[in-house]
Amino acid sequence: MAELCTWAGEQAEQHGVQIMLGTSYQGRDGAAYHLQGPHGAVRVLARLVVGADGARSRVARDLGLDTNRALLVGAEETYPVHDPTDPPPTFHCTLDPRIAPGYLAWVVHDGVHVHVGTAGYPAQFRHGLRQSLATYRAQAPGLSTATRTGPVEHRAGPIPVGGLLRRIGNRDGLLVGDAAGAVSPLTAGGLDPCLRLSDHAALILDEALRTGRRESLDRYDAAPLRRRLRGRTALRTVLAHTSSSRLVEAAFTGLRTTPGRAAARQILFSDRSFPIDAPTAPGEGEDVTPRQGRTVEACPGDARVTTPR
Ligand SMILES: Cc1cc2nc3c(=O)[nH]c(=O)nc-3n(C[C@H](O)[C@H](O)[C@H](O)COP(=O)(O)OP(=O)(O)OC[C@H]3O[C@@H](n4cnc5c(N)ncnc54)[C@H](O)[C@@H]3O)c2cc1C
Repeated sequence: MAELCTWAGEQAEQHGVQIMLGTSYQGRDGAAYHLQGPHGAVRVLARLVVGADGARSRVARDLGLDTNRALLVGAEETYPVHDPTDPPPTFHCTLDPRIAPGYLAWVVHDGVHVHVGTAGYPAQFRHGLRQSLATYRAQAPGLSTATRTGPVEHRAGPIPVGGLLRRIGNRDGLLVGDAAGAVSPLTAGGLDPCLRLSDHAALILDEALRTGRRESLDRYDAAPLRRRLRGRTALRTVLAHTSSSRLVEAAFTGLRTTPGRAAARQILFSDRSFPIDAPTAPGEGEDVTPRQGRTVEACPGDARVTTPR
């Protein structure tokens, strides 16, 4: 994420964006938006505002748009791996309502880092999120002390799983990423949907700014996207109400069959986590014309703390 944010920040600056790190959005007063930065208060007059401020978006409230209600909480630790090939990179996925009520726990060894984490509905953790993560770490598959070396990075925060919100834009601005609930309701993966929805938003904003026609923003409509996410949202509801370990074990047995594996592969690894085509990768032919604008950018830093082990 750090590399991705740095790359995206550099790209944005090259196209005229002014980035103000360590700056928080404090509130709105008509067309004036109040920020608090390292050098004090800043007042910005803006025609359009984009809320990319996460699951508990303040911008969403101030624009009078929808806000996330269904939230999981998750926590993850990341370690550098000692030997990238031993064990080989693997994604272990644990369905256990005692450790991850309504969701799943994971060990992802990607060859460079190993991530161990869990998430679930906050009220359903019997001994809290932190304790569940500790319990899981002690018994998680594919996680030996030989695998883990060096500093550990902790990450935690809310994860919206209610699906894409109904009202994600109006003529004053719009929401992207977690602020818009753009998270796959089933897998709770938010990075890919965030990039796809942001790309869609950028095209619409670009048109509105170039033409001066605010009505262009009406095309930022969640309804068709929500329709295509219905199946996943329904499965999330089933998962949310599954509190019996036996039921989960039975479902997992089904997932180990050939059709079950195909279904899991489709859900976890296909290119359909969110119903918008993936943005064109840099260098794949997209010509980005320089634009003028300003933004306040903050990487997902508030939820990440790095400590020496
Ligand atoms: C433990 C955990 C593990 C996860 N694992 C995965 C995974 O493996 N794969 C995946 O796809 N997704 C994962 N997610 C979800 C993913 O992190 C999010 O969907 C994604 O980061 C959303 O990006 P975002 O920019 O919309 O929001 P965020 O990453 O939350 O960024 C919002 C930013 O806005 C800033 N902000 C908030 N309020 C203000 C304010 N008032 N003023 C200024 N700035 C503000 C915050 O500091 C933050 O930097 C995980 C989430 C958690 C919590």
